[in-house]
Amino acid sequence: MALTRYKAKRNFDLTPEPAGAEPEPHARAALSFVVQKHAASRLHYDFRLEWNGVLLSWAVPKGPSLDPSQKRLAMAVEDHPLEYGSFEGTIPEGEYGGGTVMVWDTGTWEPEGTDDVDAALTQGELKFALHGKKLRGSWVLVRTRGMGKSNAASWLLIKHRDRYATADDIAAAKPKSVLSRRSMAGIARAHGGDVEKASQADGPA
Ligand code: MN
Repeated sequence: MALTRYKAKRNFDLTPEPAGAEPEPHARAALSFVVQKHAASRLHYDFRLEWNGVLLSWAVPKGPSLDPSQKRLAMAVEDHPLEYGSFEGTIPEGEYGGGTVMVWDTGTWEPEGTDDVDAALTQGELKFALHGKKLRGSWVLVRTRGMGKSNAASWLLIKHRDRYATADDIAAAKPKSVLSRRSMAGIARAHGGDVEKASQADGPA
């Protein structure tokens, strides 16, 4: 059910992305999260939280910020399979999301203030803690008002004020993969991707 949209968008004969087993919700010691940097037609970061056997996913054009004054637009996109959380490589140009993908951060997460994550998502406000290598502390995802069907996908990702909050630009300070220590260009080079486009995603050296 939950991966129907994910599978419909992709041709698994052509993309190296995981086809995804059907989710089997089961008790786990901890819920995972991942942030993938994705140099598609537009550079963005994909923010994914494990829930009910899939990765709930938001595309964040500017990426997460540790600065509580920075409210980052996060567009809800299709659920992804859990295996996607370790996917790093290059989706062929012309395929859905064509471009290079980096595992920019990963770790575990937990809801804050409630155990009823489904209700929080329905109400449009999910508070949570991240235990990653780059992203830590307390955060919130808030669905933007304006409502109506067309705006249902639009959320804001905001850092709460705590000891992990900082005005430093984490994306610029720690640009490399937490899986492989590679740059976007390094991943593109290893997987036959567009190295120039990936280099632009790496930003000024
Ligand atoms: Mn993406």
